[in-house]
Amino acid sequence: TEETPVVSTLGLTAGYGAAPVLKDVSLKVRQGEMVALLGANGAGKSTFLSALSGLHRPVSGTIILNDEQVQTLQPHELVGRGLVLVPEGRQVFPELTVLENIELGAYNRRSEMSRSEIAAHLDRFPRLKDRLSSRAGLLSGGEQQMMAIARGLMARPKVLLLDEPSLGLAPAMIDELYAILGELRDAGITILLVDQVATMALAVADYAYVLEQGRIVFEGKAADLASDPRLTTAYLGGG
Ligand code: ATP
Repeated sequence: TEETPVVSTLGLTAGYGAAPVLKDVSLKVRQGEMVALLGANGAGKSTFLSALSGLHRPVSGTIILNDEQVQTLQPHELVGRGLVLVPEGRQVFPELTVLENIELGAYNRRSEMSRSEIAAHLDRFPRLKDRLSSRAGLLSGGEQQMMAIARGLMARPKVLLLDEPSLGLAPAMIDELYAILGELRDAGITILLVDQVATMALAVADYAYVLEQGRIVFEGKAADLASDPRLTTAYLGGG
């Protein structure tokens, strides 16, 4: 049902040495929602996504994906269950074509990859459609980000995790990218994204959490947070 989260964490604590970077983080993403995890540089956003996708073992706490505890699973097992990360920096293969980069997203089920599925995804990314045979390294930063998202969709995510999709992009490109993310959400794709720049994320997301020094300090409907005077630009890293 709508009430059951697709993915949630309960009391997640994680770090790299003695001092935890994430402290007792509890968060929920419901089916069809776009949830934003916001916070300044170094707040722990990437560490959260790494923990969620099995790349970094939490010290304590649970991660529940579709009613199953998954905090001990390996990254590929989580991808197989529909938790798909589009990492910061996008992991573009610059010498491969745009189409080849996108096809790599279906590596976990190559035999059933279909042209019509790719075509359906590409309808949402008109900028990529005309450039499928270009070398990916020739795309702009925003186009590369779109390509990385298209690749993530090829894995048929139950939840798409996006790490700083707007990083380094010009404002007009950020608007365009978030418009596409909103369309994906409206088409039923569940999205959890982290971003340092809150303005667009709060304009498009349904719900948001603010992370400060590893702890959730605010959460609420995105529209409410957007107009909350406590969320100064200092909290939200500008924007
Ligand atoms: P950014 O926007 O810079 O990615 P963030 O909110 O995603 O910030 P994290 O990357 O999760 O934050 O980093 C949180 C803290 O953990 C920082 O103090 C960082 O220096 C530290 N950290 C991150 N990765 C490692 C690592 N591999 N080893 C040790 N410390 C790390």
